[in-house]
Amino acid sequence: MPNSASTADESTNSLIPIKKDFGTSFAFNKAEESQFDIESLREELKELSSELKSLHQDFNKTNKKNFERDFDLLFLPTEGKFYPDGRKSLMIRYLTAVEEKILCNEFLIKTGRAYEFLMQNLIVDDDFDLSSLLLPDFQAILMFLRSTSYGDKMPFEYLCAECHKKNEHDVLLSSLRFKDPIQTPDENGLFYITLPKSNYKVAIKLLSYKDAMEIDKEVESDFFFYVDDGKQEKIRRTVSNKTIYNIQSINDIENRESIKKAFKTISKFDSDVLSKFIKECEYILDSKTDCECEFCGNIAAYNFNIGREILSLPPSFKESIIEEVFLLFYYGKGITQSEASQMPVYERRSLLNRISREIEKKNKAESDAHSAANRKRA
Ligand SMILES: [Zn+2]
Repeated sequence: MPNSASTADESTNSLIPIKKDFGTSFAFNKAEESQFDIESLREELKELSSELKSLHQDFNKTNKKNFERDFDLLFLPTEGKFYPDGRKSLMIRYLTAVEEKILCNEFLIKTGRAYEFLMQNLIVDDDFDLSSLLLPDFQAILMFLRSTSYGDKMPFEYLCAECHKKNEHDVLLSSLRFKDPIQTPDENGLFYITLPKSNYKVAIKLLSYKDAMEIDKEVESDFFFYVDDGKQEKIRRTVSNKTIYNIQSINDIENRESIKKAFKTISKFDSDVLSKFIKECEYILDSKTDCECEFCGNIAAYNFNIGREILSLPPSFKESIIEEVFLLFYYGKGITQSEASQMPVYERRSLLNRISREIEKKNKAESDAHSAANRKRA
């Protein structure tokens, strides 16, 4: 799903603003690079590298954590109401080139393996059962990673409801909150409803992120039929399956096959009641934002879809990652390839920007000296 306003019927992928940031201030492109005398450049960089090393140490000092990689504590939207140990927060490592490369792989993204890898690699708490990670908490982790790696601003495009022109709007990820469910869970994190027609007592659980991935894998065009008051109805298998994933038990029976069987016998009326109830049990990201159209000035609220795609990188970005890691290793003497690969994205880019500024400064000083010498000679 591309990032788009839900009211817009046309949408465009907004790519992560990768090169924008770092490209504007970084002085080299390949053509320019070849003009440099590598030996003299090396000399200059020797000086620069000691400066960089201390900068690197500063970065580590400010984090003051004796772990191999920096991390942060993230408070979970579900606030400990659903995990057996009442867990309210998780320690999350920052994104590095190691994960970025995985996120460039379309196959791994499509199959969900990329996100599994991400969670395994980035959740520090090793006593946490990853398969139990709930969908809203997973979403919060993705937003945290996106915000701390590529900036808090997320650009979206939407079509103005009044003049239908395309607008761009930035949403601040850190400002978004999840709305609590309307229904209240019991002490085990389950929601109960008794269906009006069948009288089934159904226990509803929140979806885990793995459930969500499984649901996405279901084929959309797949329908199944059932009989309601003697009339044959058809509904999309995806819709029904999503509901199945949400059901913990029917009449206290937790066996999956029995649940599926019982579920197939319920009427459309009960099914609708159940779907509505499940919606009221969900945590929903409140992304509604007032936007002013830059063409007609119309102010309206738009809902922006924020899903897994906020962290999927274009395959072509892999080249840039390799290049950035190499440049940091090459110009930041003392930083190994492996250190550059395992450096948080924001840190890697800050250092590259810093190197770039220093090189620009040196180039300018050099060309000023050169012009001065020429003037003297003239
Ligand atoms: Zn407008």
